[in-house]
Amino acid sequence: MEAYLAELNDAQRAPVLQKDGAMIVIAGAGSGKTRVLTYRIAYLMNQGVDPFNILALTFTNKAAREMKHRISQIVGSSEAKNLWMGTFHSIFAKMLRFEADKLGYPSNFTIYDTQDSQSVIRAIIKDMQLDKDVYKYKQVYSRISSYKNSLITVKAYFQNPELKEADAMAKKPRMGEIYKAYVDRCFKAGAMDFDDLLLKTNELLNRFPDVLHKYQNRFRYILVDEYQDTNHSQYLIVKALSDKFQNICVVGDDAQSIYAFRGANINNILNFQKDYDNVQMYRLEQNYRSTKNIVNAANSVIDKNQTKLEKVVWTANDDGPKIVVNRLLTDGEEGRFVASSIFETKMQNQLNNDDFAILYRTNAQSRAMEDALRKKDIPYRIYGGLSFYQRKEIKDVLSYLRLLINPKDEEALKRVINYPTRGIGQTTMDRLGIAANQYGKSMFEVIENLDHLDLKINKSTRTKLDNFVNMIKHFTILSENADAYTVADTVAKKTGLLQELKKDGTPEGIARIENIEELLNGVKDFVEGQKELADASGSLSEFLEDVALATDMDKDTSDDNKVALMTIHLAKGLEFPYVYIVGMEEDLFPSAMSMNTRSELEEERRLFYVALTRAEKQAYLTYTQSRYRWGKLVDAEPSRFIEEIDDQFKDYMIPQDDYKYKPLIDTDIFGDDVDKSKLRQTKPKNGTPPPSHKPTEQQLRKLRKMKPASSEPAKATNNIQLEAGNEVEHMRFGKGKVLKIDGVGQDKKAEIDFENGGIKKLLLRFAKLKVL
Ligand code: ATP
Ligand code: MG
Repeated sequence: MEAYLAELNDAQRAPVLQKDGAMIVIAGAGSGKTRVLTYRIAYLMNQGVDPFNILALTFTNKAAREMKHRISQIVGSSEAKNLWMGTFHSIFAKMLRFEADKLGYPSNFTIYDTQDSQSVIRAIIKDMQLDKDVYKYKQVYSRISSYKNSLITVKAYFQNPELKEADAMAKKPRMGEIYKAYVDRCFKAGAMDFDDLLLKTNELLNRFPDVLHKYQNRFRYILVDEYQDTNHSQYLIVKALSDKFQNICVVGDDAQSIYAFRGANINNILNFQKDYDNVQMYRLEQNYRSTKNIVNAANSVIDKNQTKLEKVVWTANDDGPKIVVNRLLTDGEEGRFVASSIFETKMQNQLNNDDFAILYRTNAQSRAMEDALRKKDIPYRIYGGLSFYQRKEIKDVLSYLRLLINPKDEEALKRVINYPTRGIGQTTMDRLGIAANQYGKSMFEVIENLDHLDLKINKSTRTKLDNFVNMIKHFTILSENADAYTVADTVAKKTGLLQELKKDGTPEGIARIENIEELLNGVKDFVEGQKELADASGSLSEFLEDVALATDMDKDTSDDNKVALMTIHLAKGLEFPYVYIVGMEEDLFPSAMSMNTRSELEEERRLFYVALTRAEKQAYLTYTQSRYRWGKLVDAEPSRFIEEIDDQFKDYMIPQDDYKYKPLIDTDIFGDDVDKSKLRQTKPKNGTPPPSHKPTEQQLRKLRKMKPASSEPAKATNNIQLEAGNEVEHMRFGKGKVLKIDGVGQDKKAEIDFENGGIKKLLLRFAKLKVL
């Protein structure tokens, strides 16, 4: 047996060694699904399968890069280079470029990002003189997106009176017209939006049997990670491509399906066995990622979902500390707690910043975390949110670059035609827009042909337009012969963009120049990387594609040592030693918008399951007592998901019944003086103790049936016997004298006069005190 196969357990090895046929691996978090996929590809290549014949679809391009890296360690990097691995969007964009002419698109089509698409929709709503409070552009965009993902084309829309009725009921009777106008404008601009990349791929495979056969023959082996989150459009593509050879391997976990709100269809995974002949079903049960406490806590939560496939997840890893639950007064205090806890844990255990992740339900929650981390000088990186490539100055440069690859790109044109200012005003733009519509041409073509058209544009403006077109054409010629870096560098310097920012001279202006520099560095890195690849050259169009299809996870390229901040949605598939899940409050998580039906609530619960199972060694949950929401300070209630964790796997830092916040308690004891050894000592009160080694069949059966024990509040033992007058010693505050004791049980506190710290009130359950 090859050495790398020994890095798999028996259950994992089985799907790797099954070379042909359809197979599905359904298994809980951290059980090695992604590892199976990676090793399977290496094994196929070892068996003589040409990498050219393998297609692997992943959730992020970063995941694909990591898999490729591991594969090249096994089979050698020159072989691995030729694998087609990446997200659905990036793989099929590549395929569409080869075949674009069949659909009437130029092969250099632009990919509109969400901002571009929404800007087109805003313009349409304005042109159609619709009420923008009724036709909210973001809503309209997501409606159109959902049509596309259900393969409802404009034609199909108009053939289906029910859709029209549904939109009329939603007070948007003119949705169909907007949809049509949007599709027309994108087509005219030679642009596809994100959803088009899947929709048009389907169209291509449906309408052109020769194209279908070509790719069926090419992609003899297809592998899909995170299959539970594929949408209908993705499902159909995979189905079509794998139909001939049926060598398809999908892996997933129904309990981690968290994108239903974006059209993911959990039935794709549930019905897989019906879709192919002789499907082999594999299950993995051993989790390698997390401690017993984390695995069992996550199991006890997901057990509350009614709609699920029964699964067993166990681990041979250590028990580890219990999940720590803490309540803070405000989000500011929550941030400070998390930052000090990270600081302490890092110091105590000699860890790196990138051993930590802070996960939240909504992007807005990052601010409080950032403030606190910054104050403690802890480097961090935010994933998602407004990405680097969406910053104004970056998008300006990119728009120039897009325009010289595809001059029809209207969003790019509008952005840069008068930036830096060239005296081309809005009236001129409006006239050009009307003419473009009238002649069915792009705005750029109209400008190119101004001499032949009867437009009310004066001589001096015509000259300005002429100059602009010539400049772009000049860059286009350059881009045909030079690599992306040379072009980008020239554009930044010759368009006047940098000069404009230099003139500005403000700190913001300087930061923008630095960002452009950073972009140019990025282009350079990219070009260098591309030149090593067999089928790439580092051209500008390659770079633009890479930028357009970077997922939120991919967008930051530098890989240094920072605490990761991201939404739970983005954290799917990742793992971190220490994970803080913040904002564990009703209406925030579960989200107020997702509590109307059981199925919505179950999706939130799956999201919580994903969050918890990212942690390897320890998970912290925090909630606040009050939080600013929509500008008002409102009382917050702890999330039901905290309660749903079986008590034997969690520990409260604050007495659960202590609902009144007592600011007298020194906040330091929450953040800095947690006695983790004590947390560990707390024995499970009742219920089956977690297995400490690989369970026997009998234990497994019992586990499979195991229901979480009733959730009574945990009563931590307080074994410190203290009374007023005792001399004590504290790790941080030094020696002190107990002034008074109050509270009982887990609520017991001591007021102590410390030599170094003055008078502090400490919760005995957590305070690390030595009685002298
Ligand atoms: P998720 O559901 O979160 O996507 P997954 O099922 O894809 O998880 P992996 O990410 O493949 O799980 O594996 C989880 C961790 O366990 C990884 O760090 C992986 O390297 C490790 N791992 C998986 N299988 C083994 C094994 N047989 N021996 C040692 N480590 C393993
Ligand atoms: Mg995975």
